[in-house]
Amino acid sequence: MIPAVLPTYARAPLSFVSGKGSWLTEADGSRYLDLGAGIAVNVLGHAHPDLVAALKAQAETLWHTSNLYRIPNQEKLAEALVDATFADTVFFANSGAEAVECAIKMARKHFSAAGHEGRNTIITFAEAFHGRTLATIAAAGAEKLVKGFGPDMPGFKHVPFGDIDATRTAIDDSTAAIMVEPVQGEGGIKPADDAFLRALREICDEHGLLLIMDEIQCGMGRTGRLFAHEWAGVTPDIMAVAKGIGGGFPLGACLATERAASGMVAGTHGSTYGGNPLACAVGLKVMEKVADDDFLAEVRRKSSLLRQKLEGLVATHPDVFESVRGLGMMLGIRCKPANMDVVNAGYKAHVLVVPGGDNVIRLLPPLNITDEEIDEGIARLHKAAETIEAAQ
Ligand SMILES: *Cc1c(COP(=O)(O)O)cnc(C)c1O
Repeated sequence: MIPAVLPTYARAPLSFVSGKGSWLTEADGSRYLDLGAGIAVNVLGHAHPDLVAALKAQAETLWHTSNLYRIPNQEKLAEALVDATFADTVFFANSGAEAVECAIKMARKHFSAAGHEGRNTIITFAEAFHGRTLATIAAAGAEKLVKGFGPDMPGFKHVPFGDIDATRTAIDDSTAAIMVEPVQGEGGIKPADDAFLRALREICDEHGLLLIMDEIQCGMGRTGRLFAHEWAGVTPDIMAVAKGIGGGFPLGACLATERAASGMVAGTHGSTYGGNPLACAVGLKVMEKVADDDFLAEVRRKSSLLRQKLEGLVATHPDVFESVRGLGMMLGIRCKPANMDVVNAGYKAHVLVVPGGDNVIRLLPPLNITDEEIDEGIARLHKAAETIEAAQ
C-alpha cells in the first residue's frame, strides 16, 4: 500500500523532534550532530533564539496579506539584499526552484521586451541542479531528473561544466543567457574555477547575454563570502537564492540588475505567498547575522579548520575516503565504498552528512558551528569510517 506521504524520498529511519544549534534530538532523547543543516538551509543552526524571536514577534502581529499590498518586511529584506550585492531589485518566492523559474522567465522576458523574441535559450552545465519543476529539470537536463516527465521543456542547451570552448561553441542567435552554479552542490560539490566564471562573464558581455547564477546552495555565507561568485570577482545579472536565506523558513529570492529585470513589469510574474511577512521577518534576521564581515571571517576561519581536519580524516582512512573538495563550509568527500554506506555509518555514529553526486558525502554544517562541534564531528566521522573498515 502506498504510504500516506508520497514515497518520492528514500528516507532514513530517523525522525527528530527538536533541535538546538548544531544538534538534533529524537523522541527517545538520542542526539545527532547535524553536519548537513537540512541541506545547507539551517545556516544559524536549529532554533536560533534570534530567529525564533523574529518569527514569534511577526506571528503575533500579522501572518499574511498577499502581494496586493506593500509588505514592509519584504521591502526591508529587498533593500538589505540590494545593499549587499550587485542587484538592484528582488523578487521573492518560497523555494529554490521558484527562484530559478523567475530567473528563467526574467531572462526570456528581457529579450522579448526588447523586441528579440527568438532569443530565449539558456546554456546550462552538465551535472547541474536547479530544482524539480518542469523548467528547472529541463534546465539541468540529467536523465534521472527528466525521464518520464516529457515532453521536455525546450529552451536549454547543455555543455560540460568548466568547458569554456564548448560554451562559446553553443552560442547562436537564439541564446539569451548562461546559467551556472558557482559551486555545484547536488552534482557533488564541484567549485567552478575562478577563471571559468570570469570567462563566462566575458562571453556574456561579448555576446550581450545575461549571466544567471544559481547560488541556492552556495550562497548566504556558505563559502565564507556572502555569495560564492565574490571569490571570482565577477557578478551575475540575475541570481537565484534560497535554502540558507530563510534559515529553515521557506523563502527564495531572485535578484537582478535593473537592466536584466527590464521586462518584468506589473502583471508579468507573481506568487501568493512569496515574500510574506513571516518569511521576510526571518530572512531579515538571517541577513542581519550572515551579511556581516566578522561573521563571514569566522566562517572562513572555521571552514579552514574543518577542511584541515577532513584532510587528516581522509589520510587516516584511505580505503573509505578518496579526497576532499569544496569551498568554505561547502565540502565534499569522495568515497571509495558507495556514499550511502558512509552516510548510513554516520547515522550509526550519530553524525548527519548528506549524499551528493559523484559518490561524495556533503558536509554543509550550520555556519555558526563551534570549534568543539567540528572536533566532535570529525571524531564521529572517524568512528563511522572504522565501522566500514571493520566490515571490509
Ligand atoms: C536545492 C537547490 C535548488 C532547488 O531548491 P528547492 O528549494 O528544493 O526548490 C536549486 N538549485 C540549487 C543549486 C540547489 O541546491
